[in-house]
Amino acid sequence: MRRVTILGATGSIGQNTLDLIARAPDDFQVVALTGGRNIAQLAADARRHRAELAVTAHPDLLEDLRGALAGSDVAVAAGADALIEAAQRPADWTMSAIVGVAGLAPGLAALEQGGTLALANKESLVTAGPLMLATAARYNARILPVDSEHSAIFQALIGEDRAAVERVIITASGGAFRDRPVADLAHVGVEEASTHPNWDMGQRITIDSASMFNKALEVIEAKEFFALDPSQIEVLVHPQSTVHALVGFNDGALMAHVGPPDMRHAIGFALNWPDRRHLPVARLDLASVGRLDFSVPDPARYPALALAWQVMAAGGHAGAIFNAAKERALDHFIAGRIGFVDMSALVAQALDHGLCDAPKSDITLESVRRCDHLTRQQMDRLIAA
Ligand code: NAD
Ligand code: MG
Repeated sequence: MRRVTILGATGSIGQNTLDLIARAPDDFQVVALTGGRNIAQLAADARRHRAELAVTAHPDLLEDLRGALAGSDVAVAAGADALIEAAQRPADWTMSAIVGVAGLAPGLAALEQGGTLALANKESLVTAGPLMLATAARYNARILPVDSEHSAIFQALIGEDRAAVERVIITASGGAFRDRPVADLAHVGVEEASTHPNWDMGQRITIDSASMFNKALEVIEAKEFFALDPSQIEVLVHPQSTVHALVGFNDGALMAHVGPPDMRHAIGFALNWPDRRHLPVARLDLASVGRLDFSVPDPARYPALALAWQVMAAGGHAGAIFNAAKERALDHFIAGRIGFVDMSALVAQALDHGLCDAPKSDITLESVRRCDHLTRQQMDRLIAA
């Protein structure tokens, strides 16, 4: 019986994780579930899975949550400290699936318990990679990748000599605007940017897929997680989204991970690791897929992608600046205040300004939070100007 906690249980990754857990009720015991404003979902899942604790990030919703769980044995709590307490409850396996830099502190708290952290929250490694890895090492905890590309790389490396790795190729679907004339991108709207051709994901990551900010985050995530040199990482557009990543070795071999675009594969792999177990994902019929296409991403269509290499070269807090600037630009795009192509232009400006007081100092939770805060303020000023 594995004791599991899900941070961000009401989101897309959280719900897919609960779907897998519900299929093997004898194998898992749910410790804590956390969510945001969707109290009905959080309460229903906490009841159904007999969680010990349910936490909403919003203190103003505590009474709603208490009411929704009245008569059950589920304890309730709310707010940032309660998210940390949820992460600190003894668990064998914790899913980090809060979206954005808000996932960093609870993820670190979970690592300090020394169990396994299944990491969907890529922002943790982008903003604080060295801190995450040092915390895991210090508390003898393990981080398993959940992002599909990183799970694919991880799986391709099983049993391999890491010194023989020459390169890693991460694929990208190309997102909602893959086939749009580049000149039209200045006028695309939020709704069409929120529609993914292959994957069913949360709204923010779906828009980040259209801009390739998501791929930029994943490149940095891969560098941190697999200790790669930035020059070893490549990105290819692969519209079918069946090859999730490839690892190239020094003998010229490429090991590809191939599967349907269903996050339950990567989640289930992390959930069952080190075993492989049956998972309810579609089996690929390669003959009906027919062909697999690969192409180099057009820098004019995806200007956000190159920023990843700028961030990796700068090091220090550049990842925190990049992520905060990106999150804030995305907020403003969703609110209709800036256009789609303005996002990458503004983030590039934020990186050039180095809007953070101590970009090269040691990365701590506090320094990342401060950098995040300063960068968001600066972005708001840039956008208001
Ligand atoms: P989502 O928006 O569907 O869900 C986010 C979850 O986080 C919800 O439970 C929400 O209540 C909670 N949350 C949001 N803001 C919060 C805050 N400030 N404090 C505490 N909780 C908060 O997002 P998602 O698509 O499930 O993505 C979650 C993470 O996984 C992201 O980092 C994303 O990049 C990553 N990821 C997602 C996918 C996918 O298929 N959805 C794939 C790879 C990686
Ligand atoms: Mg991914």
